[in-house]
Amino acid sequence: MPPRPIVKYGHPVLHAPSAPVSALDDQTRNLVADMVDTMYAAPGIGLAAPQIGVALRVIVIDLSVGADKGQLITLVNPEFVEREGEQRHEEGCLSVPGYGGSPVRPARVTVRGLDLEGNERIYTATELLARAFCHEIDHIDGFLFVDRLTPLKRDLLKRKLKKRAKSGDWEE
Ligand SMILES: [Zn+2]
Repeated sequence: MPPRPIVKYGHPVLHAPSAPVSALDDQTRNLVADMVDTMYAAPGIGLAAPQIGVALRVIVIDLSVGADKGQLITLVNPEFVEREGEQRHEEGCLSVPGYGGSPVRPARVTVRGLDLEGNERIYTATELLARAFCHEIDHIDGFLFVDRLTPLKRDLLKRKLKKRAKSGDWEE
């Protein structure tokens, strides 16, 4: 399947909470296949369903960007079980191309959700994987990394992004 267009900052689907998935059916499997293809094509290490315009609580993460199939994580209706500590690193987002920022994230997270077979999956992560879980779960809650910056940086970046969104020009 060809990758789907990635929705950019300013689109309402990115700024509102997404709905839980109620059934693990072919539609969900097709959605995940599209998300994985789109993530690899971008390329990126994570993608949330709203980023391809689907307001559902589904995330995919692959820190190897497809190089190691064993690293692909698909989680339906993910939620945090535990968050502790703090870390801060530069993040980017496929929906905010050309911009970055360093939000404060937990140092360690435990996340629970369902895989495509309906089995419960629990992941405990630190460093980059912890940041990826937080970034993608933020997406399905309607938040972007921009919303997690210090007020001064957030306001400055939001002004730039609003201008950019209004112009409709997101080409890098
Ligand atoms: Zn993102």
